[in-house]
Amino acid sequence: MIRNPEDIKVLVTRHFPGTGIDLLRKEGFNVTLRDVDEPMTYEELTGMAKKHNALLCTVTEKIDKSFLNECDHLEVISQFAVGYDNIDINEATRLGIPVGFTPDVLSEATADVAFGLMIAASRKMFYLHNTISKGEWSYFIPRAHLGTGLRNQTLGIFGLGRIGLEMARLCKGAYNMDIIYHNRTPDKDAENSLGAKFVTFDGLLRQSDVLSVHCSLTEETKGIFDKAAFMKMKPSAIFINTARGQVHNEADLINALENKDIWGAGLDVTDPEPMKPGNPLLGMENVAVLPHIGSAEMETRNEMSVIAAKNIIEFYRGNKLPNIVNPEVY
Ligand code: NAP
Repeated sequence: MIRNPEDIKVLVTRHFPGTGIDLLRKEGFNVTLRDVDEPMTYEELTGMAKKHNALLCTVTEKIDKSFLNECDHLEVISQFAVGYDNIDINEATRLGIPVGFTPDVLSEATADVAFGLMIAASRKMFYLHNTISKGEWSYFIPRAHLGTGLRNQTLGIFGLGRIGLEMARLCKGAYNMDIIYHNRTPDKDAENSLGAKFVTFDGLLRQSDVLSVHCSLTEETKGIFDKAAFMKMKPSAIFINTARGQVHNEADLINALENKDIWGAGLDVTDPEPMKPGNPLLGMENVAVLPHIGSAEMETRNEMSVIAAKNIIEFYRGNKLPNIVNPEVY
């Protein structure tokens, strides 16, 4: 440790589960744990960050250019998430602030949610669950509640990275699905291990029976699943998004489902979040929605908190962050 840890003030913006916060305390840091469930307002975050050296935060905190310039004294930012679209990484890099994140540990948990949503949408599970609570389960009707099968179908992955790869593995193993994908750069390892085939974005839209989104949210991917995209998809297709809600245009998705341009959808992420109770998607038979629970598994969240803490600990030991978003800062 280069400095006395007691002199290092770490602001932990939420009560993250797991043993990460204990690790920070064991290391001797002066930890401020904000033990409140609601996200911080921008003013609260800026005010508190000014009194600290390091920040352990998550996706609800807006770490934009103006925040970073007001708090350019921050020595390190550690994000409790793999997505970091809430942080202006270019600005953090320009200011020399390393940003940590928690990749890999949540890939399986998040892929499980995508896989579950795919089955739930294909068999109308959430909708039918709700009909039972309304007393609408009468008797067996051979032609009612028919879902669509998944075996030997084509899975299209938009963003075959860590999570996309896990989703592809699950679908290949469970349903022998053919895998096609679209990234900016083809992934030869995935092609060899899964027999995945690289296609254009247009090809992905046209050929997928299930299209699962796993890209990061960037200016390039924001709203990429819009009316034009849904119109190119098969009328039998299921759209799954566990990445970020802003990757799809929600009004266009609602229209596509209402017009039967696509068959169904499964969402763990929506735009905006939280989704309003009256959203038409919640009343649709072939739609399943969850409240952004991708990594919400006890073991996963524990590991995330440990990784987020270790990014801070290693920084103050004079080492490179083990999981860093902007290595070019060094
Ligand atoms: P990752 O390994 O970086 O994968 C992202 C993939 O997206 C990469 O393969 C990348 O390939 C591709 N991509 C990025 N921009 C693209 C573009 N413009 N066109 C086509 N492909 C593009 O990240 P990950 O760990 O799998 O996580 C993915 C995202 O999931 C995160 O960013 C986060 O937003 C979200 N997430 C959500 C939850 C949840 O709770 N629902 C949990 C964890 C993560 P190329 O670079 O070759 O284009």
